[in-house]
Amino acid sequence: MSARSERACMLCGIIQPFKKFVDQGCPNCESLLHFQDNEEGQVQECTSPAFEGLVALGNDNRASWVARWLRIDSFTSGLYAVKVNGKLPPDIISELESQNIVYRPRDGSAED
Ligand SMILES: [Zn+2]
Repeated sequence: MSARSERACMLCGIIQPFKKFVDQGCPNCESLLHFQDNEEGQVQECTSPAFEGLVALGNDNRASWVARWLRIDSFTSGLYAVKVNGKLPPDIISELESQNIVYRPRDGSAED
């Protein structure tokens, strides 16, 4: 499998093969992004093939500074991107906001 087929979720940053997003959705964001209920377009729009920096999240480092820094301490174990290029579509962002979820772009444009 080539690395090119891997994509990072723009909401949580988890890295999975494109096909896995289509077939199984995002393990963290499925209830919000509904990849499984949609055509591949949803995966195209809400995940990005351009990401940098890999962090493996597991039970041993879930509470580590890096997990907290990435805000992934409550996420499922897996491989996460430190930086994900691209932003969620505006209609998805407003849908998240209507559920009181603050979307923080992972492309480096968000500020604390
Ligand atoms: Zn996700």
